[in-house]
Amino acid sequence: MILRTEGSADMELPELTILGRQMKNEIVGKQISEVEVVNPKCLNIPFDQFENTIVGRTVKAVQSKGKWLFVKLDSDHVILFNPGMGADMIHFRPGDKLPEKHQIKFTLHDKTGFTIRVWWFCYLHLVPKSRLSEHKLTAKLGISPLDKEFTLDYFTQLLSGNRGSIKNFLVDQKNIAGIGNVYIQDILFNAKLHPKRKILSLTAEEIEALYKSMNSVLRESIHLGGLAYEKDFYGNKGGYGKQQFKIAYKPGSPCPTCQTTIQKIKTGSTSSFVCPNCQRLNE
Ligand SMILES: [Zn+2]
Repeated sequence: MILRTEGSADMELPELTILGRQMKNEIVGKQISEVEVVNPKCLNIPFDQFENTIVGRTVKAVQSKGKWLFVKLDSDHVILFNPGMGADMIHFRPGDKLPEKHQIKFTLHDKTGFTIRVWWFCYLHLVPKSRLSEHKLTAKLGISPLDKEFTLDYFTQLLSGNRGSIKNFLVDQKNIAGIGNVYIQDILFNAKLHPKRKILSLTAEEIEALYKSMNSVLRESIHLGGLAYEKDFYGNKGGYGKQQFKIAYKPGSPCPTCQTTIQKIKTGSTSSFVCPNCQRLNE
């Protein structure tokens, strides 16, 4: 909750990876029998059309990509969901008390299903598989950093020739899918890089350190169940919180490496946390 006041999207790759895995276990192979959407603005087509197209269809697969979930149906359609600034997406069984104030509800033929409570806005889009490449919000998503294709060579190529600063580049979903303003802080700290460092000034060693840091931060969070203030598909909170953060959201605390006071600085429209000693801007 504290981080929401920072205006950041708090569900990033680890949270969506965990949700996607759990959803897959619960809903694949089941038929959608009912759908309710209280906030039709999140849809890309009229509700009636959304409902008529998906009710009676069976879920074939669930995948996460960056901050998106892809629910593939046994027809020519895919349901695309993005939780915006965050959402509780909670599984239910027959007889369970449903979370209050949910805006979206999917019921499956065995009377299980899930509700979604959105904090601010979300996207719930329905797109024919053959037209996924035309879906502007997902078609240009970069590869996720934990995908097999995301090798050090790929990452080096991706950065090469780019004139911007490293933080802005990494949180742009067109470059890399899944990193936002929460995980980026410690990813840069581990690699000893200031958020405003110019990409052109990075050495091969620094790029490798950054690559390794992205992997270790995201994998550790997935291992611990995601962020401590976000809920998984069963309503359980993750184990990655203040104790795991090194400098993120700890202004005024000592740097865990050198004891220098951690500073909060402005980087464009977002805040960044840096150790001015470990993450120097002079190159
Ligand atoms: Zn330090």
